[in-house]
Amino acid sequence: MTLKKLLLSLADLLMPRVCVVCGRQLISSEKHLCMSCMADLPLTYFEDRTRNPMADSFNKRLIESGLEDHGYQYACALFFYSSDSGYANITQALKYRRDFAAGKIFARMLGRSLARAEHFADVDLVCCVPLHWIRRRQRGYNQAEIIAREVWRELQGRRGAGDAEGVRFEPGLIRRGRPTRAQTRLDASRRASNVEGAFAAARRAGAGWRAAGSGRREAEGAELPRHILLVDDVYTTGSTLCACCAALREVFGPDVRISVATLAYAG
Ligand SMILES: [Zn+2]
Repeated sequence: MTLKKLLLSLADLLMPRVCVVCGRQLISSEKHLCMSCMADLPLTYFEDRTRNPMADSFNKRLIESGLEDHGYQYACALFFYSSDSGYANITQALKYRRDFAAGKIFARMLGRSLARAEHFADVDLVCCVPLHWIRRRQRGYNQAEIIAREVWRELQGRRGAGDAEGVRFEPGLIRRGRPTRAQTRLDASRRASNVEGAFAAARRAGAGWRAAGSGRREAEGAELPRHILLVDDVYTTGSTLCACCAALREVFGPDVRISVATLAYAG
């Protein structure tokens, strides 16, 4: 037994680690999830299907919001859950208990599944649903940003060194202009009105974003993205993501594709 394994076993004796889903004590080779919960993780495989229940729901929401004339947008989540399932603990641990390690593992799994999927291959910018600055200060972090950063790392890693453009990560691209009520206790129509118009995408000073192929070469300018990936922790009704999408459309116009990705699908 290596020293590291010995120390881990000793630490498990003194402070037993438990499975984030079922609460069972973990053995030394397990991390965050026991083997049986990992084997039963209800993966969606949405990344392999351009049309899937989450994408259908998101596109329906876009149509209801008057954002329909931009084509069918892609959407993907790593796993299914309902609020009474143990798998809900994965996102709750990240959101409420500062358990970043487990959340990051699943975020990387999500990133790898997107990196393999053909229709996410041209994503060139990753951003996330923001918290209002007051809530961000209270919580100390934004769980969607933690997920988005891991997803971005996986996408960037797949591009290889030959791709000079790479994938940009812009966690501060969208900001929440006003605080909104927690969505969890609201029904679908109240969720939509709660977040409508609550977001704005940052307009870079002057010509910070220049149109691709426009020939303008401002030193500070960045080429307009073609495919933005918007990341959040859980997809429920899509209201928040749709409101963020509207904010991105205001800045980037009708031609940019905006896809969404979340850890969990609770639709
Ligand atoms: Zn378990």
